[in-house]
Parts: sequence; C-alpha cells; structure tokens
Amino acid sequence: MTLSHENLKQSIQFLLKLQEIDGKLFKLKEEMEKPASDFLALKQQQSEAAAAVSLAERQFRQIDRERRALELKFLTLQEDSRKAESRRKEVRNTKEEFASDREVENLQKRIQETKSLFDERTAAAEEKAKSLETKQAELSKIDAEFKQKTEERNARVSELQGEWKILEDNRNEFISKVHEDVFSMYERVQKLRRGTGVAVVSGRVCGGCFVSLPPQMVSQLQRLEEVFTCPSCSRILFPEALLEAENSSPAEAAL
Ligand SMILES: [Zn+2]
Repeated sequence: MTLSHENLKQSIQFLLKLQEIDGKLFKLKEEMEKPASDFLALKQQQSEAAAAVSLAERQFRQIDRERRALELKFLTLQEDSRKAESRRKEVRNTKEEFASDREVENLQKRIQETKSLFDERTAAAEEKAKSLETKQAELSKIDAEFKQKTEERNARVSELQGEWKILEDNRNEFISKVHEDVFSMYERVQKLRRGTGVAVVSGRVCGGCFVSLPPQMVSQLQRLEEVFTCPSCSRILFPEALLEAENSSPAEAAL
C-alpha cells in the first residue's frame, strides 16, 4: 500500500471517528444478541414451572387411573357379592351353606379392602389435583409476566434496530473517506476487538491494550509513513501528537 503521510493521517483520523460508531454498534449488537439477565431468568423460571406442571399432570393421571381401576374392581366385587347372596338362598345342604357363607364373607372382606384403597386413592387424587391447580396458576402468572417482558424486549429491540440504522448510515459516510486497504485492516481487527481497530499511542503505550511499544517503532510511528500495528493487539496505531486539535485536550497535546 503506498500512501502519503497526509493521506494516511487523514484515513486514520476518520477511522477514529468510525471507531466511535463501531464501539456503539458493538454495544448494540451485544444487547440485541444477549437479552437482559432478568429476561433470561424469567425464561428459566417459565421452563421450570412448565416442567413442574407436566410432572404434576402425570402424577395426577397415574393416581386417577389407579382410582378408576379400584372403582371398577369395587363394582365388579359388588356384583359378584349380589350373585353369591342369591346363590346362598338356593343351598341344599349344610356343606353348601357353609361354602356359600364363606364365599359371601370373603367377597365382603374384599369389598371392604377395595373400598378403603379406593377412598385412599380418591383422597390422593384430590390432593394431586389441588397441587396441579397451584402449579398451573404459578405457570400462568409466569406466562403473563413473560409475555409482558417479551413485548418490552421486542420494543427495545426495535429501538436498538432504529439506532443501528442511523449509526450504520453514519458509518458508511466515514468508510468512503478511508483508504480501502487501511479500512480492511481496521475492519479485520475491530471485529475481533469489540469494535476498536485503532489505538492512539501516548508516550510509548498502545491505548488499546496498554502494552509498551518498542522505542524504534514509536519514533517511526511519529512520521506515519506507513501503517503500524500493535504487535500485541494488532490495532492500527496512531500517534497522539497527530490527533486533531478538537480531539485532544491541551494537556494531552503537551505530552
Ligand atoms: Zn495494543
């Protein structure tokens, strides 16, 4: 790349302006890609609450199935018991009477056992139904909150997109003023360095990574006859002394 000192100086001065925009763009991008932590926390809560609801639903269905099976068993036993009672009326001898009594007794006992299991499962199902209801209410509350947060987030994202558009238009204006080779060097570095591709050198120190530069490089840099990049962070270097007057305070200019 052959560039006069003046062209190079101007290019890098525009890059410094471009860099201000890129820093802002970088922050916007970060916010757009990474939602605020309360949004993420709520999303987490929502998925946990949904999992709790589906677990409670499964448990309720299981208990309810057991309850209905016991109910069916109970009704069947009652029917069997009625049949046994009518057979008892037709016994022909003591032996048959004894056997019939045993059968009825046995069925009654099983009916009692089934009834008590059925009652126990019914109570358990009611309790599960209540707990499911509580969990569903918690989830609905989180869903409503999440919906509101999502709307807020979407509004914020369109706001950021609006800002993005303005900055990008600004950016394009500056790009056209920078030599294209210098710009491509800058672009490579700024993408890796959070939107900063140029560093101002104060004394011997790179303003990008704060590493001290070799003295010879610093003195060559003052003449700015070619592009120098920081050996440590690869940013394009620019001597503080060449900053435009409005960009440097009198104290800095005196250094
Ligand atoms: Zn550096």
